[in-house]
Amino acid sequence: MTQKVDAIVIGGGVMGASILYNLASKGLKNCVLLERDTLGSGSTGRSSGLIRMHYSTRVNAELSWKSFPYFLHFDELIGQQKPQFIKTGFIAIAGPDSKEGLMKNVSIQKEVGIDTEIIDLKQANEVAPGFNFNDDEVFAWEPQSGHGDPSGTAMAYAKQAEQLGAKIVLKSPAEQIELRKNKVFAVHTEKETYETEIAILATGPWSSQFLSKLDIELPLTATRHEVFLIKRQGNQLQNHPSGADMTNMTYFRPEGNDMTLVGNGNREHVANPDQYNPKPSMDYLEDVWLRLSKRIPSITEGQYFTGYAGLYTSTPDTHPIVDKIDGFDGLYICTGFSGHGFKLAPAVGICMSELIIDGKVDFVDINPLKADRFSKGKQNQISYEFRVIG
Ligand SMILES: Cc1cc2nc3c(=O)[nH]c(=O)nc-3n(C[C@H](O)[C@H](O)[C@H](O)COP(=O)(O)OP(=O)(O)OC[C@H]3O[C@@H](n4cnc5c(N)ncnc54)[C@H](O)[C@@H]3O)c2cc1C
Repeated sequence: MTQKVDAIVIGGGVMGASILYNLASKGLKNCVLLERDTLGSGSTGRSSGLIRMHYSTRVNAELSWKSFPYFLHFDELIGQQKPQFIKTGFIAIAGPDSKEGLMKNVSIQKEVGIDTEIIDLKQANEVAPGFNFNDDEVFAWEPQSGHGDPSGTAMAYAKQAEQLGAKIVLKSPAEQIELRKNKVFAVHTEKETYETEIAILATGPWSSQFLSKLDIELPLTATRHEVFLIKRQGNQLQNHPSGADMTNMTYFRPEGNDMTLVGNGNREHVANPDQYNPKPSMDYLEDVWLRLSKRIPSITEGQYFTGYAGLYTSTPDTHPIVDKIDGFDGLYICTGFSGHGFKLAPAVGICMSELIIDGKVDFVDINPLKADRFSKGKQNQISYEFRVIG
């Protein structure tokens, strides 16, 4: 069967859902989202859900800060029940080697208007009692940050998009984008042909695979990352803030009242999104638990609760590609968010809808996220080892 639609969004992660909603709310109502499996079945459903603003480039800091109100007031701003947001505060911890980078990051964040401060050792002990800090470490503190519900957020965007007239088709992989004279003409699934002039790839870890069908090469790699949860002994550490620890290379956040989720973003292994191992591995567990215990000594007493792996979609500068694809009219891409896409999704969806409908983006300057920055040698510079943060 063939049907005509305004736009096709390919991929039902938090990005695809946010883009779909923002297109519909900006007036492009006859849009369809195609999802190969279920909403949130890719990276979104395995995300640690951290929401913080500590970034080393203005573009990421601004995208996260401008997304933040949506996590706090989703119901008022979008119109669906607010997905869970838990405020925990967030501490970024850097040793002497990373001190300059951390200070620079905080000054960028302050320019953007982010609520963050450099705090001293005494204040660090106050916001994170039970942590072990070194005298030569520096700390950035975000009192408002916390974590949210990535799949719930994708669902909420999707539901509101449907209410505005968009359609979501699950278990329906896009097989091919048909181009005529380098213009998008249609998107094909096994059963349907959608005639459209606009196709948006929000395919997460599957993006390279899909682009190769169009002979488009971009430096996007699917990489495997593990996280695990430890049940704390409650009497030793009641609760703690979220954080990123550059000294011991971990990131962490509380889960509920008595668990700690921990990950380490820089143990990257290239993976095939259709075949990767989603289960935890013992060597990772031992290594990361030991490093976490250097920061939170009482965590050694905890019990392993569960663990899993998910996929980042990584680019060489750890920044996403949010752009129109040059040379192909109507073809857009929004992927490569490595370990930070969830918290950026509200602002990115707005930027994408402006790019597609208005032909320019006013909400945030996303020029640093252009696809051709790699071929032009204009990659984003990150000021210190950053991949650690989820
Ligand atoms: C372990 C882990 C921890 C993380 N922690 C954080 C964190 O703390 N904070 C944070 O902000 N971010 C975090 N992230 C990153 C964040 O989860 C991702 O950046 C974000 O979810 C990406 O969303 P997406 O929509 O681009 O991709 P995805 O969620 O992967 O969605 C892509 C979708 O496209 C679908 N698809 C692919 N090909 C096709 C096709 N041909 N047709 C139809 N559908 C298709 C897939 O099934 C999938 O549902 C983490 C990620 C992982 C893996």
